[in-house]
Amino acid sequence: MAQVRIGNGYDIHQLVAGRSLILGGVKIEHELGLLGHSDADVLTHAIMDALLGALSLGDIGHYFPPTDPQWAGADSLQLLAQVAELIQAQGWQVGNIDSVVVAERPKLKGHIAAMRDRLATVLQIQPEQIGIKATTNEKLGPVGREEGIAAYAVALLEAI
Ligand code: MG
Repeated sequence: MAQVRIGNGYDIHQLVAGRSLILGGVKIEHELGLLGHSDADVLTHAIMDALLGALSLGDIGHYFPPTDPQWAGADSLQLLAQVAELIQAQGWQVGNIDSVVVAERPKLKGHIAAMRDRLATVLQIQPEQIGIKATTNEKLGPVGREEGIAAYAVALLEAI
């Protein structure tokens, strides 16, 4: 059996007026967007933490601290590309990623194919290696009240 490592990641960002909603590198039309130091792409952040976690490399806050003006408004896909480079440099490749976005609104179904394409391109893998599921929180808690959007991800890495 190939040498493998598994990691998991979680993230949540507040929904506010006057910000863009970007998930998996895809800009989605909505009256609210996610608040954060970077573009606040909660799905990409959860995936980055899963990838880093698989190799016990810490978390995204360590590499891209929210206090560093260098990452203000950063395109999270560019941060993901840096994480991908780090993983490859350590001798690992992505086997597969699975993820869940928890959002009461908007409906994400029509955007998932585009998100998989964008993430796969950055990670230099096939879209078939990335699972993205969307669910609501059944109106429960802060996500259910549309105060934020959360994302969970797991990643399996294989030794090159
Ligand atoms: Mg985040």
